[in-house]
Amino acid sequence: MPYIGRFAPSPTGPLHAGSLVAALASWLDARAHGGQWLVRIEDVDTPRCIPGADQLILQQLATCGLVPDAPVMWQSQRGDAYQVALNTLIAKDWAYPCGCSRKEIEDAQALMGHTRERHTAAVYPGTCREGLNGKAARAWRLNVQRVIDDLQLATPLTWQDRLLGAQQQDVAKDVGDFVLRRADGLWAYQLAVVVDDAAQGITHIVRGEDLTDNTARQIVLQHALDLATPTYMHTPLVLGENGEKLSKQNGAEALDLSHPLVTLHQAASLLNLPAEHGTLSETLTTWVKRYEKSK
Ligand code: GLU
Repeated sequence: MPYIGRFAPSPTGPLHAGSLVAALASWLDARAHGGQWLVRIEDVDTPRCIPGADQLILQQLATCGLVPDAPVMWQSQRGDAYQVALNTLIAKDWAYPCGCSRKEIEDAQALMGHTRERHTAAVYPGTCREGLNGKAARAWRLNVQRVIDDLQLATPLTWQDRLLGAQQQDVAKDVGDFVLRRADGLWAYQLAVVVDDAAQGITHIVRGEDLTDNTARQIVLQHALDLATPTYMHTPLVLGENGEKLSKQNGAEALDLSHPLVTLHQAASLLNLPAEHGTLSETLTTWVKRYEKSK
């Protein structure tokens, strides 16, 4: 089976210990399958991007011996492709404009007795599903239930993670009509990632476990856009001292790459790969062999 994998960092800062684990895991998995490894810079959320972070990330990857097999893709240059995808969904009557402000969504949820848990996106109560009621269009949303009904997708949606095993989610109930294009005009991650994974021919997605919860939404979108579903594997997270996922937001430090092999060993240990002696490229080659055996 052909294999094309990818690492898709958001340039909101340099790589940190957590993102290096995802990068290394996706690279090793691609190499162990004799496949290609691509890099995509996910710079759609422009207010969160830091100028120059993209080049820094590419340099950091190269310092670790992780060099993409094809030219890097930047999501900021992909607006036309996202618009085509949105138009397709609109033409099928699967996407609709939404005029709700965040406050209106929260008020509607409170009326329905929904409380919002920490770290979860608000389930959209469906206010604009049948029309804008005189409001100005702000965002575009996917009519999840209609896609599920029209395409006869199973509820809950089930999928297999290569590491975590069987997963399921009731996307209409637990996530709701998620945003495709935001009120500020920016493209939503879910749409961009699905369109680009297909455009790059990605067959295997290997990424951090914090993204597991997005997968069912992405599979629904793949069905809606008539795109193939890749296989998925979500890798362990590096936890900060407070036990929370290490992220740029909770102050994860930029990687110290003065000794790239030492830093790579730390990332590799999370993937259960033992310490090796040798140069950077010898070490990577040995890990690929070990990884192949453990597959
Ligand atoms: N750009 C996302 C991030 O940095 C990763 C997206 C993905 O791998 O699907 O969190």
